[in-house]
Amino acid sequence: MARPEGALDCPKCKAEKREGFLVERAGASGKFLACSQGREACGFLSDVPKNAKQRKAMLQIKCPSCEGAMRLRLPKEKGKNAFLSCVRFPECRGARWFDEQGALEEPRPAPVTGPPCAQCGTPTLKRGPASSGSYFWSCPRWRSDGTGCNSKPVWINEAQA
Ligand SMILES: [Zn+2]
Ligand SMILES: [Zn+2]
Ligand SMILES: [Zn+2]
Repeated sequence: MARPEGALDCPKCKAEKREGFLVERAGASGKFLACSQGREACGFLSDVPKNAKQRKAMLQIKCPSCEGAMRLRLPKEKGKNAFLSCVRFPECRGARWFDEQGALEEPRPAPVTGPPCAQCGTPTLKRGPASSGSYFWSCPRWRSDGTGCNSKPVWINEAQA
């Protein structure tokens, strides 16, 4: 595919040292951006930036969790803010949010990792507080619908820590 004048570099290809660029496509729910390398080779998809700040963020910001590329997600509902989501979602939950003025917020602190999950060995994440006010270690592969790891949360004794 010939690269049109002014086409944006694909952020995922850039991170992974390929030559992809972004092409605007029309889908059932409106326009979106897709990588010229295609779904198999790259698979980058994004909403179309509405302004220069969003475009710059999509091209330059790295995932706060895995350092990978991020895609722009525009809010589907009024009153919600746009955000950047890691291209590895749902395996990676890294995200960066825009504030009401459309500026990118500081990254939210990464969750504290704990001992490996007793069931699957994935490092657990600190969650909480629960209604009791206590924090607990929870497996990141746990899913509320029961499709993930079924390990039980491990309560953290704050007095001991
Ligand atoms: Zn790409
Ligand atoms: Zn990530
Ligand atoms: Zn687990």
